[in-house]
Amino acid sequence: MVREINTISVIGAGYMGKQIIERSALCGYNVDAYDVNFESLNEFISELKRSKNIKGKVIHHTNLSEAVKNADLIIEAVPEKLELKKDIFPQIDKAAPPHAIIATNSSSFPISKIEDVVERKDKVLNIHFYHLTKYPMADIMKGTQTSDETFQKGKKWVESIEITPLIVKKECYGFVFNRIWRAIKKDCLKIWAGGNADVETVDQGWKIFTGMVEGPFQIMDNIGLDVIYDIEMSYYNKSGDPEDKPPQALKDMVDKGFLGRKSGKGFYEY
Ligand code: NAD
Repeated sequence: MVREINTISVIGAGYMGKQIIERSALCGYNVDAYDVNFESLNEFISELKRSKNIKGKVIHHTNLSEAVKNADLIIEAVPEKLELKKDIFPQIDKAAPPHAIIATNSSSFPISKIEDVVERKDKVLNIHFYHLTKYPMADIMKGTQTSDETFQKGKKWVESIEITPLIVKKECYGFVFNRIWRAIKKDCLKIWAGGNADVETVDQGWKIFTGMVEGPFQIMDNIGLDVIYDIEMSYYNKSGDPEDKPPQALKDMVDKGFLGRKSGKGFYEY
C-alpha cells in the first residue's frame, strides 16, 4: 500500500531548515524538528506558533531518533559537510519507519555521494530548496537506486507545499537552477572584475530584461560574498578549468570583510 506523507522531520534547523519547517506547518503537515542548537530551535518554534496561523503540529525534539520515528519524509538540512551528512544519514535510517523517504537539502552533494551509508537506497533523494518565499522552487534528483515511487512521492510533496519541483533527469553538479544562476553570476563577476561595466549598469540591464526587482550583484550581496566565493571555488575545484576560477577581486573583497548586506558593504553599501 502506498502511504501518503503526513509527518515531516527536519534535521538541522538553520537558515533553510527553519523555512522548510514553517512552510510545511503552514501547509498542514505535522513537523518533528531536531537541531543540535536546542534553544534556538525551541525559540523559533515558540515564535512560529505565536505569530503564524500554522495548521500542522510542530514539535521540537532534543534527540534525533525521536524526531524521525513517526516521519513519512525526512529532510536533512545540516551544514554543507559531506562527513556530517554521512554521519547523520545512518542514524536517520536506523530510527525512521521503513517506508520513510530521506532527502537532503544539500546545495552541492548529489545523493549518490551519501546513499552508500543507508540501507534504504531506493528511498533517498535530493530535494534542494531555494529561498522558499522569494524563489518557490526546488531541484529534485534521484540517487543511483531511487525508485520512481520515491521520486513521485517527493515531487508530489514539494508541489503540496506550493513549491515548483525542477526535475533533474540525469545527475549533475549544480542541479537545474543553480547551474543557470551560476552561468549568469560567473560572467557578471568577470564584467565587474574586468572593469568592463559597473555593477549598477549590469543590474540595470538585468532588471529591464527580466522584470526582476534585483540584479545579480544585489542578489550576490544578499547571499553573502563569502558564500558566493566558496561556491565559485567549488565549481573551479571540480572542473580545474581556469575559466571557472572566481576573480581575485572577489577574494580581495572577502578578505577585507566586505561580505555584502550582512557586513554593511559588498558591491553596494547598506
Ligand atoms: P545553517 O548553518 O544556517 O543551518 C544548519 C543547522 O544545522 C544549524 O542550525 C546547526 O545548529 C544545525 N546542525 C549542525 N550540526 C547538526 C547535527 N549534527 N544535527 C542536527 N543539527 C545540526 O545552514 P543552511 O544555510 O540552512 O544550510 C543547510 C543545508 O542547506 C546545507 O546542506 C546547504 O548546502 C543547503 N542549502 C543552503 C542554502 C542557503 O541559501 N543557505 C540554500 C539551499 C540549500
